[in-house]
Amino acid sequence: MALKLLWLQGLSCNGNAHSFFNVPDMAGVLREFAFIYHPLLPCEATLEEVSGGDFSPDVLIVEGALRRDGVPRGDEEALTLITRYAKRAKWVVCAGQCAVFGGIFRLNEPDKIAGALYAGKERGGFLDAFEKKIINLPGCPVHPEWLLFTLRMLALGTAPRLDDLRRPVELYGYTVHEGCLRNEYFEWKVDARDFGAKEGCLFYEQGCRGPYTRGSCNKILWNGVNSKTRAGMPCIGCTEPDFPAERLFETETLMSIPARLPLEVPKRAYLTLTGMAKAFRIPRLTRRKFGEEEP
Ligand code: SF4
Repeated sequence: MALKLLWLQGLSCNGNAHSFFNVPDMAGVLREFAFIYHPLLPCEATLEEVSGGDFSPDVLIVEGALRRDGVPRGDEEALTLITRYAKRAKWVVCAGQCAVFGGIFRLNEPDKIAGALYAGKERGGFLDAFEKKIINLPGCPVHPEWLLFTLRMLALGTAPRLDDLRRPVELYGYTVHEGCLRNEYFEWKVDARDFGAKEGCLFYEQGCRGPYTRGSCNKILWNGVNSKTRAGMPCIGCTEPDFPAERLFETETLMSIPARLPLEVPKRAYLTLTGMAKAFRIPRLTRRKFGEEEP
């Protein structure tokens, strides 16, 4: 029997609901799963019926940040409705940065708005009582295929292995840096001089957070073809609790050294390796193929 899904929203821009439509073969996915309710799809029930009813979803998908009051959904407050169905569901999948950590909404009212388990980096979310059922899929928005992968595992009766923030290791066990096509430029410390440049690494000047952000954006490509860093846009770290950072597209430095180094790389190791890399300029990498002049 098809896995029964109930998709409910807290404070949200709808981005995750839209993102999900980019799974390959959406029509097949709609046959594969039974949607009790989704905000943008014709479904078994309306929001009013869900709010007044007692459905039994296998998976509750939560999109958006949670707030104690003031967000109506049907005849109930969003948090009351989501909590009621979190009790009834076998699994609660938090889709997107806001549902997991509170995201952009939390910045506005950090004392009132949070995610399911987390308020930014700290515990203090609204669905703590359901921790063991929760699978976190942060991202702004969530990668459609990460959500589909998770739902398919649950449909098979298998729970994915989770990291310490309850993110599936299969999807978040890598950094965005892994698989990026600009790795050779990173190793030899060759900068991308402009946002959107085809050549060079975006870490040294453009604020790329790929080396310390967990997510498989460069392994499971978006729409099967691309990722931010492949297109010349720095990774903005949207799967991590400290998103959104200020000054997203700048590399903050202390004494000319990036303030944040790649995950688990000691400063001494970083300085030794980059010092050596800088000393050996590789003409193949520094000579730009697309008309940029050497500085
Ligand atoms: S652009 Fe970002 S993800 Fe790609 S190699 Fe450079 S630092 Fe890593």
